[in-house]
Amino acid sequence: MKRRDSPNHDGRPPGAPIDTLVLHYTGMASAAAAIDRLCDPAARVSSHYVVEEGGLVWSLVPETRRAWHAGVSFWRGHRDLNDRSIGIEIVNPGHEWGYRPFPALQMAAVCDLCLDILARHPIPARNVVGHSDIAPDRKQDPGELFDWEGLARNGVGLWPDSVDTPAPPDALTQIGYDPAFDPAITLRAFERHWGRARLAAIAAACAPASPPRRFHSPSNQRA
Ligand SMILES: [Zn+2]
Repeated sequence: MKRRDSPNHDGRPPGAPIDTLVLHYTGMASAAAAIDRLCDPAARVSSHYVVEEGGLVWSLVPETRRAWHAGVSFWRGHRDLNDRSIGIEIVNPGHEWGYRPFPALQMAAVCDLCLDILARHPIPARNVVGHSDIAPDRKQDPGELFDWEGLARNGVGLWPDSVDTPAPPDALTQIGYDPAFDPAITLRAFERHWGRARLAAIAAACAPASPPRRFHSPSNQRA
């Protein structure tokens, strides 16, 4: 891991747990341009980590500090997710500059980094989210090409095997999306992450009395 110190951070609120992991794409033409911007005091944005396409990981902000990656955001009743999250920027030009698949080396590095973070903080699987999940009206990263399923099979995030019941009407809110948005907006964000066919399964996994054995956990994973 390489280190470059970004000045763009401040203190977390006293007592705030670190219970959310937010994944982004950089959405810039190159990794160097993205890292420069995340360290530019005038830009007032940052993340804790950046993962390059070849798998090189940069540390920009200590996890104890509040990096500025989420902006106006909502998940499971909490606003301003910078307070309680760790942010990872994953290098990809994004929808604006030529969205392309995330290379296997990069995904492996993202997975290792996430597992390391999850081992040190009480972050439940359902709180591993994309920027588009917590700001569905303004963000689409990391986008539909991101391998959420592969991450989940390695113990990072939520991915259902299957479920055969219809989704309840309040499924999106139950999962964690901001109920203030038009459901069409949140449904689009959901589809980027999980695909529409999994709405009932994810809602079931996020229901108060869900049976956890139906979903991937460290004990039943394929390697
Ligand atoms: Zn983002």
